[in-house]
Amino acid sequence: MIKFGPSGSCELFAMQGYSHTIQEAKWLAGLGLDCFEYSFGRGVRITEKTAREIGNEFRKYNIEFSVHAPYFINLATLEEDKAANNHEYIFGSLKALEYFGGKRCVFHPGSPLKADREDAMNVLMKRLDNVMELKHELGFDDLWLCAETMGKKSQLGDLNEVIRMCKGYDTLLPCIDFGHLNARDQGVIKGYDEYKRIIDTLADGLGDFKTKNMHVHFSKIQYGDKGELRHLTFADEKYGPDFEPLMKVISDYKLEPYIACESAGTQTIDALAMKNYYKSL
Ligand SMILES: [Zn+2]
Repeated sequence: MIKFGPSGSCELFAMQGYSHTIQEAKWLAGLGLDCFEYSFGRGVRITEKTAREIGNEFRKYNIEFSVHAPYFINLATLEEDKAANNHEYIFGSLKALEYFGGKRCVFHPGSPLKADREDAMNVLMKRLDNVMELKHELGFDDLWLCAETMGKKSQLGDLNEVIRMCKGYDTLLPCIDFGHLNARDQGVIKGYDEYKRIIDTLADGLGDFKTKNMHVHFSKIQYGDKGELRHLTFADEKYGPDFEPLMKVISDYKLEPYIACESAGTQTIDALAMKNYYKSL
């Protein structure tokens, strides 16, 4: 089933006097939302006890819980000690995800830094192979890793690169961040046709199952020559992309993604705006 929800706690949540993730479950259920993404940002710092308590509360209210792995992951790194850090971030996130009782962990694939892009992609694919093998050995076959499309041109993770990453592995899903795709190509998404083209490309590359069940990040994002600058709210009318035509494509194609809204501060009400629009179709 398609799910809508915020990434992280929004301004309204704080304004209404809430401060703990555990309070999100009841609050989001009351608003009629379906999922919540918890970001580890700089590192996986949560105890098993707290994660299990939060997970129980989310289960009680039937709100799906996903996590975002720390931002420092770079699978294209040439340094072996950094590759070890990648594993710590990824498997620490998966362990916590298991405690939360969630199923999906999003990660940023990496950057070439000074390397040639194609060489960097080859390093990344090798390291990814390693990660997926370890994932199996460590008993995480029932959890999904989601490789995200990135907002800066310099980062690995345009649409085709994410398709290449996800292709060979049963438990690797694409996380399509439409704001990122729009920002890295300076406002390329104008409406229904561009969204449709992205979904068609995805389905050609990865098949119907991974397309139907993809993970989605959505926000409007300010961009410059090099791509993403900062996340905006749905009040933005300049940068986009607009969510309405995406909802139409998702509805027409009967897709069932989890959509995490990453608006700057208004992610919950913006997620609700998407859900309500989708339901009206
Ligand atoms: Zn992300």
